[in-house]
Amino acid sequence: MRPQPKTTAQFVWGVTNRPELGEMFGGFYTEFLGKRILIDCGTVTGAKDLVQRLKSILGDKSLDFVFLTHIHLDHSGGLSAIFKAWPQAKAVVHEDAIRHLIYPAKLWRSTKRVMGEMAAVYGEPRSVDDERLIPHTAFSHPGIQVIETPGHAAHHLSYRLGLTLFCGEAVGCPYAWGANFHSRPATPPLYYPELTFHSLNLLLKEPAKEAYFAHTHERGPLMETILAYRRQLTFWDQFLFPKWSEMTPETDKKAYISQLTDELFEIDPELKPLLSLESQPLETEKYFMRNSVLGFFTHYDTRKAEEEGQKPPNFRV
Ligand SMILES: [Zn+2]
Repeated sequence: MRPQPKTTAQFVWGVTNRPELGEMFGGFYTEFLGKRILIDCGTVTGAKDLVQRLKSILGDKSLDFVFLTHIHLDHSGGLSAIFKAWPQAKAVVHEDAIRHLIYPAKLWRSTKRVMGEMAAVYGEPRSVDDERLIPHTAFSHPGIQVIETPGHAAHHLSYRLGLTLFCGEAVGCPYAWGANFHSRPATPPLYYPELTFHSLNLLLKEPAKEAYFAHTHERGPLMETILAYRRQLTFWDQFLFPKWSEMTPETDKKAYISQLTDELFEIDPELKPLLSLESQPLETEKYFMRNSVLGFFTHYDTRKAEEEGQKPPNFRV
Protein backbone atom coordinates (compact mmCIF):
# COMPACT_ATOMS: atom_id res chain seq x y z
CA MET A 1 0.00 0.00 0.00
CA ARG A 2 1.39 3.41 -0.95
CA PRO A 3 1.63 5.78 1.99
CA GLN A 4 -0.21 9.05 1.76
CA PRO A 5 2.27 11.84 1.08
CA LYS A 6 0.85 14.10 3.76
CA THR A 7 -1.25 13.44 6.78
CA THR A 8 -3.15 16.29 8.29
CA ALA A 9 -4.18 16.35 11.91
CA GLN A 10 -5.96 18.72 14.20
CA PHE A 11 -4.98 19.45 17.74
CA VAL A 12 -7.71 18.58 20.24
CA TRP A 13 -7.11 20.03 23.66
CA GLY A 14 -8.62 19.85 27.11
CA VAL A 15 -8.82 22.95 29.24
CA THR A 16 -7.47 22.08 32.69
CA ASN A 17 -8.15 23.45 36.17
CA ARG A 18 -5.80 26.29 35.19
CA PRO A 19 -7.81 27.74 32.27
CA GLU A 20 -5.20 30.44 31.62
CA LEU A 21 -2.91 27.68 30.32
CA GLY A 22 -5.43 27.42 27.49
CA GLU A 23 -4.94 25.05 24.59
CA MET A 24 -1.63 23.59 25.65
CA PHE A 25 -2.54 20.02 26.63
CA GLY A 26 -4.13 17.50 24.32
CA GLY A 27 -3.42 15.37 21.29
CA PHE A 28 -3.60 15.28 17.50
CA TYR A 29 -6.64 13.74 15.90
CA THR A 30 -6.21 12.26 12.45
CA GLU A 31 -7.88 9.81 10.11
CA PHE A 32 -5.44 7.55 8.36
CA LEU A 33 -6.36 4.79 5.91
CA GLY A 34 -9.75 4.31 7.52
CA LYS A 35 -8.57 4.44 11.12
CA ARG A 36 -9.48 7.22 13.53
CA ILE A 37 -6.48 7.97 15.69
CA LEU A 38 -5.60 10.32 18.52
CA ILE A 39 -1.89 10.84 19.14
CA ASP A 40 -1.49 11.65 22.86
CA CYS A 41 -4.42 12.63 25.01
CA GLY A 42 -3.59 15.43 27.44
CA THR A 43 -4.11 15.59 31.19
CA VAL A 44 -6.51 14.02 33.67
CA THR A 45 -7.96 17.41 34.60
CA GLY A 46 -8.52 18.35 30.95
CA ALA A 47 -9.93 14.97 29.91
CA LYS A 48 -13.63 15.82 30.22
CA ASP A 49 -13.23 18.87 28.03
CA LEU A 50 -11.05 16.98 25.53
CA VAL A 51 -13.58 14.14 25.26
CA GLN A 52 -16.37 16.65 24.53
CA ARG A 53 -14.29 18.34 21.87
CA LEU A 54 -13.36 15.01 20.27
CA LYS A 55 -17.00 13.88 20.37
CA SER A 56 -18.00 16.96 18.41
CA ILE A 57 -15.49 15.92 15.73
CA LEU A 58 -16.31 12.19 15.70
CA GLY A 59 -20.09 12.41 16.11
CA ASP A 60 -21.29 8.85 16.59
CA LYS A 61 -18.23 7.29 14.97
CA SER A 62 -15.84 5.40 17.20
CA LEU A 63 -12.22 6.12 17.94
CA ASP A 64 -9.90 3.27 16.93
CA PHE A 65 -6.55 4.08 18.51
CA VAL A 66 -4.70 6.32 20.89
CA PHE A 67 -0.99 6.41 20.10
CA LEU A 68 0.99 7.52 23.15
CA THR A 69 4.36 9.13 22.45
CA HIS A 70 5.18 8.80 26.16
CA ILE A 71 3.45 8.49 29.49
CA HIS A 72 4.17 11.88 31.07
CA LEU A 73 0.84 12.93 32.50
CA ASP A 74 0.31 15.83 30.10
CA HIS A 75 0.32 13.20 27.32
CA SER A 76 -1.29 10.11 28.84
CA GLY A 77 -3.50 11.47 31.63
CA GLY A 78 -6.68 11.55 29.54
CA LEU A 79 -6.48 7.87 28.57
CA SER A 80 -8.86 6.50 31.19
CA ALA A 81 -11.59 9.01 30.22
CA ILE A 82 -11.09 8.25 26.53
CA PHE A 83 -11.38 4.51 27.11
CA LYS A 84 -14.63 5.16 28.95
CA ALA A 85 -16.03 7.35 26.19
CA TRP A 86 -14.99 4.99 23.34
CA PRO A 87 -15.14 1.39 24.61
CA GLN A 88 -13.63 0.00 21.39
CA ALA A 89 -10.54 2.21 21.46
CA LYS A 90 -7.14 0.72 22.19
CA ALA A 91 -3.87 2.43 22.96
CA VAL A 92 -0.39 1.79 21.64
CA VAL A 93 2.31 2.46 24.22
CA HIS A 94 5.96 1.57 24.78
CA GLU A 95 6.08 -1.98 26.10
CA ASP A 96 8.18 -0.95 29.11
CA ALA A 97 5.74 1.81 30.07
CA ILE A 98 2.60 -0.31 30.14
CA ARG A 99 2.97 -1.20 33.80
CA HIS A 100 2.92 2.50 34.77
CA LEU A 101 -0.50 2.90 33.14
CA ILE A 102 -1.92 -0.17 34.87
CA TYR A 103 -0.36 0.72 38.24
CA PRO A 104 0.02 4.50 38.07
CA ALA A 105 0.96 5.19 41.73
CA LYS A 106 4.69 5.40 41.02
CA LEU A 107 4.15 7.60 37.97
CA TRP A 108 2.03 9.96 40.08
CA ARG A 109 4.66 10.10 42.83
CA SER A 110 7.45 10.93 40.44
CA THR A 111 5.27 13.52 38.66
CA LYS A 112 4.66 15.30 41.97
CA ARG A 113 8.38 15.22 42.75
CA VAL A 114 9.52 16.49 39.34
CA MET A 115 6.69 18.85 38.40
CA GLY A 116 5.84 20.34 41.81
CA GLU A 117 2.72 22.51 41.62
CA MET A 118 2.12 21.59 37.97
CA ALA A 119 1.28 18.02 39.04
CA ALA A 120 -2.07 19.31 40.37
CA VAL A 121 -2.76 20.79 36.93
CA TYR A 122 -2.11 17.42 35.31
CA GLY A 123 -4.12 15.48 37.91
CA GLU A 124 -3.76 12.05 39.48
CA PRO A 125 -4.03 9.27 36.88
CA ARG A 126 -6.41 6.34 37.11
CA SER A 127 -5.47 2.81 36.27
CA VAL A 128 -6.39 1.64 32.78
CA ASP A 129 -7.44 -1.81 31.62
CA ASP A 130 -4.36 -3.74 30.48
CA GLU A 131 -6.33 -5.59 27.81
CA ARG A 132 -6.74 -2.34 25.94
CA LEU A 133 -3.04 -1.54 25.84
CA ILE A 134 -0.97 -2.69 22.87
CA PRO A 135 2.80 -2.92 23.39
CA HIS A 136 4.50 -0.92 20.64
CA THR A 137 6.47 -3.96 19.52
CA ALA A 138 3.24 -5.86 18.85
CA PHE A 139 1.54 -3.16 16.82
CA SER A 140 1.53 -3.25 13.07
CA HIS A 141 -0.64 -1.44 10.58
CA PRO A 142 -0.07 -0.65 6.90
CA GLY A 143 1.51 2.77 6.39
CA ILE A 144 2.19 3.31 10.09
CA GLN A 145 5.66 3.09 11.56
CA VAL A 146 6.41 3.15 15.28
CA ILE A 147 9.90 4.51 16.00
CA GLU A 148 11.68 4.33 19.35
CA THR A 149 12.92 7.84 20.18
CA PRO A 150 14.07 7.86 23.82
CA GLY A 151 15.66 10.93 25.37
CA HIS A 152 12.94 13.30 26.56
CA ALA A 153 11.60 10.22 28.34
CA ALA A 154 13.15 6.78 28.50
CA HIS A 155 10.10 5.22 26.84
CA HIS A 156 9.42 7.79 24.15
CA LEU A 157 7.99 6.80 20.77
CA SER A 158 7.36 8.62 17.51
CA TYR A 159 4.83 7.57 14.90
CA ARG A 160 5.08 8.02 11.16
CA LEU A 161 1.76 8.03 9.36
CA GLY A 162 2.37 8.16 5.64
CA LEU A 163 5.09 10.76 5.30
CA THR A 164 4.15 12.79 8.35
CA LEU A 165 5.83 12.25 11.68
CA PHE A 166 4.19 12.68 15.08
CA CYS A 167 7.21 13.02 17.29
CA GLY A 168 5.91 14.10 20.68
CA GLU A 169 8.76 15.80 22.50
CA ALA A 170 11.61 13.92 20.81
CA VAL A 171 12.58 17.17 19.06
CA GLY A 172 11.80 19.34 22.07
CA CYS A 173 8.84 21.68 22.03
CA PRO A 174 9.31 23.85 18.94
CA TYR A 175 6.83 26.66 18.52
CA ALA A 176 5.49 28.59 15.58
CA TRP A 177 6.29 32.29 15.65
CA GLY A 178 5.31 34.36 12.66
CA ALA A 179 6.37 32.43 9.57
CA ASN A 180 9.03 30.42 11.38
CA PHE A 181 9.44 27.56 13.79
CA HIS A 182 11.68 28.11 16.80
CA SER A 183 13.23 25.50 19.02
CA ARG A 184 12.50 25.16 22.73
CA PRO A 185 14.09 22.50 24.95
CA ALA A 186 11.96 19.82 26.58
CA THR A 187 14.54 18.41 28.96
CA PRO A 188 12.92 18.08 32.40
CA PRO A 189 14.35 15.49 34.81
CA LEU A 190 15.16 12.80 33.92
CA TYR A 191 16.75 14.07 30.77
CA TYR A 192 18.91 11.62 28.82
CA PRO A 193 21.20 13.64 26.51
CA GLU A 194 22.96 10.71 24.86
CA LEU A 195 19.67 9.04 24.04
CA THR A 196 18.22 12.34 22.85
CA PHE A 197 21.05 12.91 20.39
CA HIS A 198 20.89 9.31 19.24
CA SER A 199 17.16 9.73 18.55
CA LEU A 200 17.67 13.07 16.80
CA ASN A 201 20.29 11.52 14.53
CA LEU A 202 17.94 8.65 13.81
CA LEU A 203 15.11 11.05 12.94
CA LEU A 204 17.42 12.97 10.59
CA LYS A 205 17.29 9.90 8.35
CA GLU A 206 13.50 9.93 8.36
CA PRO A 207 11.67 10.01 5.05
CA ALA A 208 9.11 12.28 6.69
CA LYS A 209 9.57 15.91 5.76
CA GLU A 210 7.08 17.41 8.16
CA ALA A 211 6.07 16.73 11.70
CA TYR A 212 3.56 17.49 14.38
CA PHE A 213 5.24 18.29 17.67
CA ALA A 214 3.90 18.42 21.21
CA HIS A 215 2.05 21.45 22.60
CA THR A 216 2.23 23.19 19.20
CA HIS A 217 -0.81 22.96 16.98
CA GLU A 218 0.81 23.54 13.60
CA ARG A 219 2.72 21.11 11.43
CA GLY A 220 6.35 22.16 10.98
CA PRO A 221 9.46 21.24 8.99
CA LEU A 222 11.25 18.23 10.46
CA MET A 223 14.90 18.48 9.37
CA GLU A 224 15.37 22.18 10.13
CA THR A 225 13.76 21.69 13.52
CA ILE A 226 16.01 18.75 14.41
CA LEU A 227 19.12 20.68 13.39
CA ALA A 228 18.01 23.74 15.37
CA TYR A 229 17.32 21.56 18.42
CA ARG A 230 20.73 19.89 18.28
CA ARG A 231 22.39 23.33 18.07
CA GLN A 232 20.28 24.59 20.95
CA LEU A 233 20.97 21.63 23.25
CA THR A 234 24.71 22.01 22.59
CA PHE A 235 24.47 25.74 23.31
CA TRP A 236 22.60 25.09 26.58
CA ASP A 237 25.12 22.46 27.63
CA GLN A 238 28.05 24.81 26.93
CA PHE A 239 26.33 27.55 28.93
CA LEU A 240 24.98 25.46 31.80
CA PHE A 241 27.77 22.99 32.57
CA PRO A 242 30.28 25.65 33.76
CA LYS A 243 27.48 27.30 35.76
CA TRP A 244 26.61 23.98 37.41
CA SER A 245 30.33 23.42 38.16
CA GLU A 246 30.52 26.77 39.96
CA MET A 247 27.80 25.85 42.44
CA THR A 248 28.80 25.62 46.09
CA PRO A 249 26.88 24.06 49.00
CA GLU A 250 25.72 27.62 49.82
CA THR A 251 24.15 28.18 46.40
CA ASP A 252 20.39 28.64 46.48
CA LYS A 253 19.74 26.18 43.65
CA LYS A 254 16.19 27.28 42.92
CA ALA A 255 17.10 30.98 42.66
CA TYR A 256 20.23 30.11 40.66
CA ILE A 257 18.26 28.06 38.11
CA SER A 258 15.73 30.85 37.86
CA GLN A 259 18.48 33.38 37.18
CA LEU A 260 20.13 31.15 34.56
CA THR A 261 16.79 30.60 32.86
CA ASP A 262 16.27 34.37 32.62
CA GLU A 263 19.76 34.65 31.10
CA LEU A 264 18.97 31.95 28.54
CA PHE A 265 15.90 33.89 27.42
CA GLU A 266 18.24 36.81 26.66
CA ILE A 267 21.08 34.93 24.94
CA ASP A 268 19.34 32.01 23.19
CA PRO A 269 18.01 33.36 19.87
CA GLU A 270 15.50 30.49 19.73
CA LEU A 271 13.87 31.61 23.00
CA LYS A 272 14.14 35.37 22.56
CA PRO A 273 10.86 35.87 20.64
CA LEU A 274 8.99 34.61 23.72
CA LEU A 275 10.12 37.67 25.68
CA SER A 276 7.49 39.68 23.84
CA LEU A 277 4.70 37.55 25.38
CA GLU A 278 2.55 39.08 28.09
CA SER A 279 3.56 38.38 31.66
CA GLN A 280 1.30 35.36 32.37
CA PRO A 281 2.18 33.29 29.26
CA LEU A 282 5.81 34.32 29.62
CA GLU A 283 5.80 33.11 33.23
CA THR A 284 4.39 29.75 32.04
CA GLU A 285 7.17 29.51 29.45
CA LYS A 286 9.74 30.29 32.11
CA TYR A 287 8.30 27.65 34.43
CA PHE A 288 8.83 24.96 31.77
CA MET A 289 12.26 26.27 30.81
CA ARG A 290 13.36 26.28 34.49
CA ASN A 291 12.34 22.64 34.59
CA SER A 292 14.39 22.01 31.45
CA VAL A 293 17.42 23.68 33.04
CA LEU A 294 16.83 21.50 36.11
CA GLY A 295 16.93 18.49 33.75
CA PHE A 296 20.46 19.47 32.66
CA PHE A 297 21.52 19.94 36.31
CA THR A 298 20.05 16.58 37.32
CA HIS A 299 21.90 14.96 34.44
CA TYR A 300 25.19 16.56 35.61
CA ASP A 301 24.49 15.41 39.20
CA THR A 302 23.79 11.87 37.98
CA ARG A 303 26.91 11.77 35.80
CA LYS A 304 29.09 13.02 38.67
CA ALA A 305 27.65 10.46 41.09
CA GLU A 306 28.27 7.68 38.57
CA GLU A 307 31.85 8.88 37.95
CA GLU A 308 32.47 8.83 41.68
CA GLY A 309 30.98 5.39 42.01
CA GLN A 310 28.03 6.62 44.08
CA LYS A 311 24.37 5.89 43.70
CA PRO A 312 22.79 8.50 41.41
CA PRO A 313 19.92 10.59 42.82
CA ASN A 314 16.72 8.63 42.48
CA PHE A 315 14.46 10.41 40.01
CA ARG A 316 13.58 7.38 37.99
CA VAL A 317 10.00 6.42 37.13
ZN1 LIG B 1 6.91 14.85 28.31
